[in-house]
Amino acid sequence: MEATADQGLLGEVVFSADEIAAAVRRLADEIRRDYSGEPILLVGVLKGAILFASDLMRQLSDYPIAIDFIVVSSYGTGRRGAKGDVRLLKDLDTNPAGRNVLLVEDIVDEGLTLEYLLNNLQSREPRSLRACALMDKPFHRAAKVHVDYVGMTAPDAFLVGYGLDYQEAFRNLPYICKLSCPPNR
Ligand code: 5GP
Repeated sequence: MEATADQGLLGEVVFSADEIAAAVRRLADEIRRDYSGEPILLVGVLKGAILFASDLMRQLSDYPIAIDFIVVSSYGTGRRGAKGDVRLLKDLDTNPAGRNVLLVEDIVDEGLTLEYLLNNLQSREPRSLRACALMDKPFHRAAKVHVDYVGMTAPDAFLVGYGLDYQEAFRNLPYICKLSCPPNR
Protein backbone atom coordinates (compact mmCIF):
# COMPACT_ATOMS: atom_id res chain seq x y z
CA MET A 1 0.00 0.00 0.00
CA GLU A 2 1.14 3.56 -0.66
CA ALA A 3 2.53 5.72 2.11
CA THR A 4 -0.05 7.98 3.69
CA ALA A 5 1.32 10.73 5.87
CA ASP A 6 -2.12 11.56 7.30
CA GLN A 7 -1.22 13.39 10.52
CA GLY A 8 -4.66 12.43 11.89
CA LEU A 9 -3.31 8.91 12.37
CA LEU A 10 -0.80 10.13 14.94
CA GLY A 11 -1.53 9.64 18.63
CA GLU A 12 0.21 10.48 21.88
CA VAL A 13 3.91 11.34 21.78
CA VAL A 14 5.83 8.66 23.65
CA PHE A 15 9.39 9.96 23.33
CA SER A 16 10.24 13.56 22.43
CA ALA A 17 13.20 14.48 20.25
CA ASP A 18 15.05 15.61 23.40
CA GLU A 19 14.41 12.32 25.19
CA ILE A 20 15.63 10.39 22.16
CA ALA A 21 18.77 12.55 21.92
CA ALA A 22 19.53 11.97 25.62
CA ALA A 23 19.14 8.20 25.20
CA VAL A 24 21.42 8.19 22.15
CA ARG A 25 24.09 10.19 24.04
CA ARG A 26 23.94 7.78 26.97
CA LEU A 27 24.24 4.76 24.67
CA ALA A 28 27.22 6.31 22.88
CA ASP A 29 28.92 6.89 26.25
CA GLU A 30 28.34 3.27 27.30
CA ILE A 31 29.62 1.95 23.96
CA ARG A 32 32.72 4.18 24.05
CA ARG A 33 33.48 3.04 27.60
CA ASP A 34 32.90 -0.70 26.96
CA TYR A 35 34.88 -1.02 23.73
CA SER A 36 37.74 1.06 25.15
CA GLY A 37 39.22 2.16 21.83
CA GLU A 38 38.72 -1.15 19.94
CA PRO A 39 37.46 -0.46 16.40
CA ILE A 40 33.77 -1.24 15.83
CA LEU A 41 31.82 -2.30 12.76
CA LEU A 42 28.47 -0.66 13.35
CA VAL A 43 25.72 -2.49 11.45
CA GLY A 44 22.48 -0.55 11.12
CA VAL A 45 19.32 -2.54 10.44
CA LEU A 46 17.34 -0.75 7.75
CA LYS A 47 15.08 0.88 7.32
CA GLY A 48 13.93 1.40 10.88
CA ALA A 49 17.32 2.17 12.43
CA ILE A 50 18.33 4.79 9.86
CA LEU A 51 17.94 7.83 12.11
CA PHE A 52 19.11 6.06 15.25
CA ALA A 53 22.25 4.66 13.57
CA SER A 54 23.02 8.09 12.08
CA ASP A 55 22.66 9.92 15.39
CA LEU A 56 24.63 7.23 17.24
CA MET A 57 27.45 7.54 14.71
CA ARG A 58 27.44 11.29 15.17
CA GLN A 59 27.73 10.87 18.95
CA LEU A 60 30.70 8.56 18.34
CA SER A 61 32.48 10.96 15.98
CA ASP A 62 35.65 10.67 18.09
CA TYR A 63 35.64 6.85 17.95
CA PRO A 64 37.04 4.44 15.28
CA ILE A 65 33.91 3.11 13.57
CA ALA A 66 33.16 1.55 10.21
CA ILE A 67 29.55 1.55 9.07
CA ASP A 68 27.49 -0.95 7.16
CA PHE A 69 23.82 -1.68 6.76
CA ILE A 70 21.70 -4.78 6.50
CA VAL A 71 18.08 -4.86 5.36
CA VAL A 72 15.49 -7.30 6.66
CA SER A 73 11.75 -7.60 6.22
CA SER A 74 9.57 -6.45 9.09
CA TYR A 75 5.92 -6.70 9.97
CA GLY A 76 5.59 -2.90 9.82
CA THR A 77 5.11 -3.14 6.09
CA GLY A 78 3.21 -6.38 6.20
CA ARG A 79 6.08 -8.33 4.69
CA ARG A 80 6.48 -10.77 7.53
CA GLY A 81 4.56 -13.97 6.96
CA ALA A 82 4.49 -16.80 9.46
CA LYS A 83 6.07 -16.36 12.87
CA GLY A 84 9.83 -16.45 12.64
CA ASP A 85 9.83 -15.72 8.93
CA VAL A 86 12.43 -12.97 8.86
CA ARG A 87 13.95 -12.38 5.46
CA LEU A 88 17.27 -10.84 4.53
CA LEU A 89 16.62 -8.30 1.76
CA LYS A 90 20.15 -6.86 1.54
CA ASP A 91 23.32 -8.25 3.06
CA LEU A 92 26.35 -6.41 4.38
CA ASP A 93 28.98 -5.12 1.98
CA THR A 94 31.66 -5.70 4.64
CA ASN A 95 32.92 -9.10 5.79
CA PRO A 96 32.20 -9.17 9.55
CA ALA A 97 34.76 -11.94 10.23
CA GLY A 98 37.21 -10.90 12.93
CA ARG A 99 35.45 -7.55 13.55
CA ASN A 100 33.76 -6.16 16.65
CA VAL A 101 30.24 -6.07 15.25
CA LEU A 102 27.67 -3.85 16.92
CA LEU A 103 24.20 -4.48 15.55
CA VAL A 104 22.02 -1.37 15.75
CA GLU A 105 18.25 -1.95 15.78
CA ASP A 106 15.36 0.48 16.15
CA ILE A 107 13.15 -1.64 18.42
CA VAL A 108 13.07 -5.18 19.73
CA ASP A 109 9.56 -6.57 20.06
CA GLU A 110 9.12 -10.33 19.63
CA GLY A 111 12.87 -10.56 19.23
CA LEU A 112 12.69 -12.73 16.12
CA THR A 113 14.43 -10.20 13.90
CA LEU A 114 17.29 -9.78 16.34
CA GLU A 115 17.57 -13.53 16.90
CA TYR A 116 17.80 -14.10 13.15
CA LEU A 117 20.41 -11.39 12.68
CA LEU A 118 22.53 -12.45 15.65
CA ASN A 119 22.55 -16.08 14.44
CA ASN A 120 23.33 -14.98 10.90
CA LEU A 121 26.21 -12.71 11.95
CA GLN A 122 27.58 -15.11 14.57
CA SER A 123 27.94 -17.81 11.92
CA ARG A 124 30.35 -15.48 10.08
CA GLU A 125 32.77 -15.49 13.00
CA PRO A 126 33.02 -11.90 14.15
CA ARG A 127 35.54 -11.14 16.84
CA SER A 128 32.67 -9.99 19.04
CA LEU A 129 28.97 -9.42 18.50
CA ARG A 130 26.69 -7.18 20.52
CA ALA A 131 23.23 -5.72 20.01
CA CYS A 132 22.10 -2.16 20.60
CA ALA A 133 18.43 -1.17 20.36
CA LEU A 134 16.99 2.30 20.76
CA MET A 135 13.86 0.75 22.25
CA ASP A 136 12.92 -2.48 23.94
CA LYS A 137 9.28 -3.57 23.86
CA PRO A 138 9.51 -6.63 26.12
CA PHE A 139 5.82 -7.63 26.26
CA HIS A 140 5.53 -10.21 23.49
CA ARG A 141 8.90 -11.93 23.28
CA ALA A 142 8.93 -15.03 21.11
CA ALA A 143 12.72 -15.40 21.04
CA LYS A 144 15.16 -15.34 23.92
CA VAL A 145 17.53 -12.58 22.90
CA HIS A 146 19.98 -10.53 24.89
CA VAL A 147 20.17 -6.85 24.04
CA ASP A 148 23.48 -5.43 25.29
CA TYR A 149 22.50 -1.76 24.99
CA VAL A 150 18.92 -0.50 25.38
CA GLY A 151 18.02 3.15 25.02
CA MET A 152 14.44 3.23 26.31
CA THR A 153 11.66 0.84 27.28
CA ALA A 154 8.72 1.32 24.95
CA PRO A 155 5.06 0.89 25.87
CA ASP A 156 3.03 -2.01 24.47
CA ALA A 157 1.77 -0.07 21.45
CA PHE A 158 2.47 0.35 17.76
CA LEU A 159 4.89 3.25 17.43
CA VAL A 160 5.92 5.46 14.54
CA GLY A 161 8.51 8.16 14.00
CA TYR A 162 12.29 8.45 14.21
CA GLY A 163 12.73 5.68 11.63
CA LEU A 164 9.67 3.63 12.51
CA ASP A 165 6.96 3.58 9.85
CA TYR A 166 3.35 2.83 9.22
CA GLN A 167 3.11 1.76 5.58
CA GLU A 168 6.37 3.64 4.90
CA ALA A 169 5.02 6.92 6.30
CA PHE A 170 6.22 8.78 9.40
CA ARG A 171 9.85 7.56 9.42
CA ASN A 172 10.90 11.21 9.17
CA LEU A 173 9.24 12.40 12.38
CA PRO A 174 11.85 13.64 14.90
CA TYR A 175 9.87 12.13 17.81
CA ILE A 176 8.18 8.79 18.49
CA CYS A 177 4.44 8.52 18.95
CA LYS A 178 1.62 6.01 19.02
CA LEU A 179 -0.55 5.40 16.01
CA SER A 180 -4.15 6.38 16.78
CA CYS A 181 -5.54 3.26 15.04
CA PRO A 182 -2.95 0.51 15.53
CA PRO A 183 -2.63 -1.88 12.57
CA ASN A 184 -3.47 -5.57 12.93
CA ARG A 185 -0.24 -7.50 13.09
P1 5GP B 1 10.61 -8.27 16.29
O1 5GP B 1 11.15 -9.37 15.45
O2 5GP B 1 11.47 -7.96 17.49
O3 5GP B 1 9.18 -8.51 16.68
O4 5GP B 1 10.50 -7.01 15.35
C1 5GP B 1 11.44 -6.03 15.26
C2 5GP B 1 11.11 -5.16 14.07
O5 5GP B 1 9.70 -4.99 13.93
C3 5GP B 1 11.67 -3.78 14.32
O6 5GP B 1 12.99 -3.70 13.82
C4 5GP B 1 10.68 -2.90 13.59
O7 5GP B 1 11.04 -2.79 12.24
C5 5GP B 1 9.37 -3.65 13.71
N1 5GP B 1 8.60 -3.15 14.84
C6 5GP B 1 8.49 -3.66 16.08
N2 5GP B 1 7.70 -2.89 16.87
C7 5GP B 1 7.29 -1.86 16.08
C8 5GP B 1 6.46 -0.72 16.30
O8 5GP B 1 5.92 -0.46 17.37
N3 5GP B 1 6.29 0.12 15.24
C9 5GP B 1 6.85 -0.09 14.02
N4 5GP B 1 6.63 0.80 13.07
N5 5GP B 1 7.65 -1.16 13.77
C10 5GP B 1 7.86 -2.03 14.80
